Amino acid sequence: CMAYEDPLTGLKNRRFIEEELARLAGDPSSSFGILHADLDRFKQINDTLGNGAGDEVLRVVAKRLRVCFPIPSEIGRMGGDEFIVLVKASNPTLILQQANAAIEVLSQSISFGETLVEPGASFGISFSEVHGENVHQLLSRADLALYEAKALGRNRAQIFTPELHSRLTKEKALANDLQLGVKNGEIEVWYQPQIEAISGSVSGVEALMRWRCPKRGVVRPDQFMHMAESLGILHEIDGQILSSSLAFASRMAQSGHVLPRLSINVSFDRLAEGHIVEEVQALWQDRRTQLSFELVETVTFDGTTSEVVTHNLDRLREVGVSLEVDDFGTGHASITALLQVEPDFLKIDRSLVANILVDLKCRRLVTHVIGMAEVMNIGVIAEGVETSEQAFCLADLGCHSLQGFHFAPPMPEAEFATYVRQRQGARLPVASRRSSR
Ligand code: C2E
Ligand code: CA
Ligand code: CA
Repeated sequence: CMAYEDPLTGLKNRRFIEEELARLAGDPSSSFGILHADLDRFKQINDTLGNGAGDEVLRVVAKRLRVCFPIPSEIGRMGGDEFIVLVKASNPTLILQQANAAIEVLSQSISFGETLVEPGASFGISFSEVHGENVHQLLSRADLALYEAKALGRNRAQIFTPELHSRLTKEKALANDLQLGVKNGEIEVWYQPQIEAISGSVSGVEALMRWRCPKRGVVRPDQFMHMAESLGILHEIDGQILSSSLAFASRMAQSGHVLPRLSINVSFDRLAEGHIVEEVQALWQDRRTQLSFELVETVTFDGTTSEVVTHNLDRLREVGVSLEVDDFGTGHASITALLQVEPDFLKIDRSLVANILVDLKCRRLVTHVIGMAEVMNIGVIAEGVETSEQAFCLADLGCHSLQGFHFAPPMPEAEFATYVRQRQGARLPVASRRSSR
């Protein structure tokens, strides 16, 4: 009957599948699996080879699906490259096997003249007996499982699980809240001072992002940076951080408290952006504060550093931005990083700082790092300094600046401004000139 047929492929259409599902659901003795499938590279095929080729791929896929899921299974095209298969059986293991076999078949290439395309497919699966009280729920769970299958790398079948449900629901909520939050200006900058060991004065400050979410409270970057990255909005956030922290530094200077240096964490992606240098030049007006970029060595200097990044680093230096290698001592390419970037500062990672008093090897390592930095004329900042003993030890070893909870945690703007005012009144050197090299 034409009313239930997809004219392009001859499969069943959406209307049929929906009615069939309603019928199955109304029959308590029925048990079935819902397989939600879609092609992994359909858009690409359509875009590069045209709609004609796309249609042909859909027809071939339909034929293959019919072979993989013989009657009494029902196969429907729901639209685009999206298919639903209703398998009227109750054995999950068998259904999963069937799906995996289908994935194999669907990944075989189709030729268009000289060109071979491999459509590939992912499947999300839910079962009537375990995964839902109604059809709606079953469908949406097969859909969630499909989403997961794609996230896990495509060309795979994924069965819905309750854990998957709670995880994906949480992720979706996070994604929504974060996108809204960024639009609504909920991202703010907190500031953590860096203390010069010899003078005890504030030698610099690191800008650290925070998300002040009405529902979640103040959220730290490790809770949302991943999501921001996968949503493609980390650039936007980094841009906001740059402009608002520079504006803040300028206000501080105007009120008589010049911050000698402002350090900003810069993601690898952002360094690859074409306009990063222009952005810096436009925003960095008040040159009384030195702008510095913290680069994470593990991401940035693993040997795959692109030409764009290298070029941008050179140009950033030309316009006066200093460069710091962050988390030094944790990565695999520490020395390489130093040779490549020739930074102005390196930041000794807090895992080294945490062990400096208890682990002799660690102390030796830090000693060497500082010695090497001296030879290369690179300043050394220690991060994660939590006790006065650590502070004294690091200062003794010749570390120039210290940052950590022992001095102050990251603070919101107003609190940080107060801190700087009070600190200026009473300088508290960590080391004497004599003991610090
Ligand atoms: P990071 O660059 O290593 O930043 C230092 C982290 O150590 C901060 O965590 C800070 O709150 C924490 N910290 C400071 N003092 C101490 C201490 O004494 N002990 C300990 N245990 N921790 C201390 P936070 O703010 O949660 O930031 C985490 C990471 O997120 C940062 O690590 C940085 O990689 C990234 N991040 C922060 N802000 C930005 C940003 O604006 N842009 C980008 N791209 N990344 C950022
Ligand atoms: Ca940092
Ligand atoms: Ca760090």
